[in-house]
Amino acid sequence: MTPTIGLVIPCYNEEAVLRETTSRLLVLLERMRGEGLIAADSAIFYVDDGSRDSTWALIEELSAAHSAVCGIKLSRNRGHQNALLCGLLNAPGDALISVDADLQDDLEVIPQMVQALRRGDDIVYGVRKKRTTDTFFKRFTAEGYYKLLAAMRVQIIFNHADYRLLSRRAIEALSEYREVNLFLRGLMPQLGYRSSIVEYDRAERFAGESKYPLGKMLSLAWQGVTSFSTYPLRLITAIGSLISLASLGLAAWAMLTRLFTEEALPGWASTVIPMYFLGGVQLLSLGVIGEYVAKIYTETKARPRFHVDVLAGAAFRQRGRLDATRQAIADGTL
Ligand code: UDP
Ligand code: MG
Repeated sequence: MTPTIGLVIPCYNEEAVLRETTSRLLVLLERMRGEGLIAADSAIFYVDDGSRDSTWALIEELSAAHSAVCGIKLSRNRGHQNALLCGLLNAPGDALISVDADLQDDLEVIPQMVQALRRGDDIVYGVRKKRTTDTFFKRFTAEGYYKLLAAMRVQIIFNHADYRLLSRRAIEALSEYREVNLFLRGLMPQLGYRSSIVEYDRAERFAGESKYPLGKMLSLAWQGVTSFSTYPLRLITAIGSLISLASLGLAAWAMLTRLFTEEALPGWASTVIPMYFLGGVQLLSLGVIGEYVAKIYTETKARPRFHVDVLAGAAFRQRGRLDATRQAIADGTL
C-alpha cells in the first residue's frame, strides 16, 4: 500500500522562508509521488503559531494556489511544541513527518523515512550527524544537555530534535498523553513501537532569525528534565542524607575534643559555617521541590494546549475532516 504522508511544519514569523520551503517541499512530494513512494493526496500542513508578520496570509495564498498546501492558524502564540502537537493531532495521513520551516533539516532523508515506514517502523528519528553549522556555544550546550538528560535517567535519542516520522498508530498513542508541559522528543521513546534512525547533516537557517532565543531554549531544556525525571528530587535526598551524616561525625568530633583534650574549641567557625551551608542547601532543595509543585499545579488545571482559529486548504475542505476537527474542539480534546 502506498501511504499518504503529511508534512507538519510549525511556523512562527516565517514569512522570509515560507515560499522557498513550500516550493522545495512540493518538488520533493512530486518526486516521491512519481517514484510511487507516497500516495497522490500527500500534503503539507503549516501550523501558524500566532505569527505577527504576514505568515498566515502567505499560507492562505499558498494553499489557494496548491491543493497540496494546507494551513492551521492557532489563536495565539503557544510555542513550538504546542504548535507541532496541534499539527500532529489535526493533519490527516497514514504517517506525519514534522519538519522546521527554516530548511535546516535535510529534506533528502524524507524518502528514507518513508521507506522505513513501509518496512514497518512506526517512528523514524532524524538524527544530526555533525553540528558543524552550529556555533561552538550551541554545539557545546546542546550536546552537554543530551548528556545531562541521560544522567538524569531521561530516555532520549542523542542529537534528535523534532525531525521525525510518526505512523498513524504512533500518533493515536501520542494523543493519549494529556500533559500540558510538552517535551515531545522525550515522549517518543515512551510510545514504544518499532523505531529506526536516519542520519542527516544540519544546514544553516535558510533565511530569517532563530525563533528560539536563549530564554525559550532554557525553558525547553528545563521542561525536558522536570517533565521526565524525578531524579533531581532524589539527588536532594541523597545530598541531604550525606550532609546529615557528615554533621553527625562533626558533632562527635567536637564532643570528643571537648571531653578529652585541652584545646579551645573553634566555636565560631563550626557554628556559623554549617548554618550558612545548610541554609543554602535547604533553599536550593525548596526551590527544586517548588518546581515540581508548580508542574503539578499546571498539570491539574489541564488547560487546553492550543485553540485552532482558522483552517485552510483542500484537506480541511473535505466535510468529514472539518467535522472531526469541530467535534474535537467541542470535546475539548484538541
Ligand atoms: N516556532 C514556533 N513557535 C515558536 C517558536 C518557533 O512554531 O514560538 C517554529 C519556527 O517557526 C520553526 C521551528 O519552530 O519552524 C524551529 O524554530 P527555529 O528554527 O527558530 O529554532 P532553532 O533551529 O534556532 O533551534
Ligand atoms: Mg531552525
